[in-house]
Amino acid sequence: MSRGSRPNEGFATRQVRAGVEPDPVTGAILTPIHQTTTYVQPSVDGYREKGYSYSRSHNPTVHALETKLAALEGGVDACAFGTGMAAIHTVLLAYLGAGEHAVVSDVIFGGTLRLCRQILARFGVDFTFVDTSDPAAVLAGVRAETRLILSETPANPTLRLTDIAAVSEVARARGILHVVDNTLLTPCCQRPFELGADLVVHSTTKYLDGHNATVGGAVVCATKEQVEAVRFVQNATGSIMSPFVAWLTLQGCKTLSVRMDAQSAAALEVASYLESHPTVERVLYPGLPSFPQHALAGRQASGYGAMVCCEVRGGAAAGKRVMDAVELWSLAENLGTVESLVTHPATMTHANIAPDERARLGITDGLIRLSVGLETPADLIADLDQALARA
Ligand SMILES: *Cc1c(COP(=O)(O)O)cnc(C)c1O
Repeated sequence: MSRGSRPNEGFATRQVRAGVEPDPVTGAILTPIHQTTTYVQPSVDGYREKGYSYSRSHNPTVHALETKLAALEGGVDACAFGTGMAAIHTVLLAYLGAGEHAVVSDVIFGGTLRLCRQILARFGVDFTFVDTSDPAAVLAGVRAETRLILSETPANPTLRLTDIAAVSEVARARGILHVVDNTLLTPCCQRPFELGADLVVHSTTKYLDGHNATVGGAVVCATKEQVEAVRFVQNATGSIMSPFVAWLTLQGCKTLSVRMDAQSAAALEVASYLESHPTVERVLYPGLPSFPQHALAGRQASGYGAMVCCEVRGGAAAGKRVMDAVELWSLAENLGTVESLVTHPATMTHANIAPDERARLGITDGLIRLSVGLETPADLIADLDQALARA
């Protein structure tokens, strides 16, 4: 059967099968790593007859991943990039020019903030950073020159949620785009297109690869015009994913829902344990009834994800002692992988944000970010237990 024609495909079927056909020459069940620069053309008139000319423009292994990601999100096509930042950068370059403006979540991946403020602002693009958990604040930020709204939900690192349907409604009413960074929940748990979003971006580095093996990104498009606009910028700027990274990410995607389910269940156990611990001041996890937007989390996503944040009593010094004392958890940047990771946002992922702004956004110096992996949950909790005893 050809691509996309299987009847009644469920998510797990798509994550395993979409985009990948047995190799027509050998029958190899995995898409080969097409490690090639160029493609020999049958004739001048037959140029690009098979769809390929040069690997900056198209590559069959990368294309297999793009097809799979589009099938998972429910888009028409996707475009894979060398990193998540390259994906976000390309969308912003495709839709913003000098004199134009975007409304961006004020709690967002640190690299996205840096890109807007320290790179794109130099080219005359203006940004307003707002609390996108409040649709009225988003609407108030929109101007005549606004071309798009960029939100990330749950937001890295405080897990604050944006109501995707409500913000997409604001965008539609003003004739602009709503771009959603769906890295933290993935299409397994949250499908922004079904809630009205226009474009979806990913760092595939996180859950989609899931094995700490690659860095990569993707833009998933809802229309053919978007695909053309995004591919045009990508081909012109060269921010492509390599065939080997695409191949590894293809393998990661096949187990996405199994990992997300197990990691999310473990995250709820970890969050509940932390909430009951006397040394822990507060816990942020969308799956806890105490989470301020718990109801919205249940409404717009089919899972709560596997990121947990907490603050231990005694502030930054106590937090650092805990992060230095864990043994099974790895102190490392990155998230969403089978290995459980612990990060200190204030000095690691969000260090380029000024201290007073970090404090205003809830990224306190004592905040600990936990990415719950696939190890035995009881082992993860036992390790936190011995580390918290030293806080
Ligand atoms: C990691 C991350 C990015 C950036 O992706 P890279 O692959 O590191 O370039 C963007 N958005 C979110 C939410 C992320 O977690």
